Amino acid sequence: MTLRTEKSKKLFERAKKSIPGGVSSASRSTLEGYTPYPLYIERAEGSKLYDVDGNVYIDYLQALGPTLVGNANPRVIDFVCEQIKKGSTYGLPFELQIEVAEKLIRHVPCFERVSFMNSGTEVVQMVLRLARAYTKKNIIAKFEGAYHGWVDNVAHSVHPPLDLNGPDMVQEKQTIGTGIPRNAFEDFMVLPWNDVEALETALKQHGDKIAGLILDPCMCNSGVIPPDEGFLQKARDLTKKHGVVLIFDEVITGFRLGLHSAQGKFGVTPDLTSLAKAVGGGFPVAAYGGRAEIMDLIADGTVFRAGTVNANRMAMAAAHATLEILEEDEGKVYREIYRIGEKLMQGIQAIIDREQIRAIIQGFGPMFQVHFTPLDRICNYRDYCRSDLDTYMIFRNKLMPRGIFLRPAHFGEVYISAAHSDEDIDKTLEAVDDVIKEMKKENLL
Ligand code: PMP
Repeated sequence: MTLRTEKSKKLFERAKKSIPGGVSSASRSTLEGYTPYPLYIERAEGSKLYDVDGNVYIDYLQALGPTLVGNANPRVIDFVCEQIKKGSTYGLPFELQIEVAEKLIRHVPCFERVSFMNSGTEVVQMVLRLARAYTKKNIIAKFEGAYHGWVDNVAHSVHPPLDLNGPDMVQEKQTIGTGIPRNAFEDFMVLPWNDVEALETALKQHGDKIAGLILDPCMCNSGVIPPDEGFLQKARDLTKKHGVVLIFDEVITGFRLGLHSAQGKFGVTPDLTSLAKAVGGGFPVAAYGGRAEIMDLIADGTVFRAGTVNANRMAMAAAHATLEILEEDEGKVYREIYRIGEKLMQGIQAIIDREQIRAIIQGFGPMFQVHFTPLDRICNYRDYCRSDLDTYMIFRNKLMPRGIFLRPAHFGEVYISAAHSDEDIDKTLEAVDDVIKEMKKENLL
């Protein structure tokens, strides 16, 4: 089975002459597995992606997370169109911003105050700044395998080559690409995810210098690696004990894992949270917030905040309409997303069991991953590196001509939206069944 993608190929050849690599983010480039060229999209609607060559896919990429309420959700699009007629940005405030802020404070447990920007990368920078200002300390601790944005201070230790690392406890800081000065992340410490002992030791030895501990509460940029039972609570207890600001980076998990985000789902409340993606219904919206005592350092200028198009009308309209959908019937949308996602997870698991292949599924209904691995469970980045990414890519590429779009390696998360239907899942499972059988026949599994 092959796909006809001549128009995408032509557009890519043309794009490369004006845009480096033909695209504007690594995550849609040939480097991330979109080989020999990425598909150019004509439009997206509901659970479907339509490419320029007329191919239709069930979309499990979901724009890398943002379109939780479905592609081009008409309620979001209509409200955005209506609102931007009033002007898209003024450099002055307007009431809709307060309404969105109030909604966020109602839903996200740690939010007593909240402020807006446009991307996940930006809001992470604000929570790091706030943690340092509040504690008057410098070091930020992060976890190996976790991604917190593309800027210099955090663009390291995401997918370090393992052979460059030392012993398990010592996490080397490998930058993503070059051009990043080493002093940009001198004040960062890198820890292994889900390792209580390493966290305890680090905070005991360096707690007097650590301003913040930032974590993605269900790590999802090195596969989907949920927190071990009790790990987040332990992080909460230890950070409190050592005067360290606990930061949840919920750029992906925020409003994806539930109306109260990952912190509501896991029952652990951090001091600060950054979130983006799902809250914007596919538009550029990012928010950060937390305890009033910390956030209010912004109010008197102790902590500097700026941004010309922060909280613009398009962003606020998109967030408002998205939140209205998510709030309905006490989270009816989430019940449906979990049901559909779990149906897909269980269906794939049944195929794995029946065909006796070495693969596991990790995650939750709204967001999970299929790992081809000899392990029973992936607990951290090092386990994740034992996943067979080549096999995953063959699996993923064979699903494409069958009309199923999955994210390529390294990541491969499967994102479910409110627009995915039982019919989509049935069709996907049929395709997965077909591909697994074909791969077995070809001795690829
Ligand atoms: N934090 C996390 C956990 C993320 O997954 C991402 C992006 N995937 C970011 C921060 C950066 O967000 P953005 O791409 O919107 O800048």
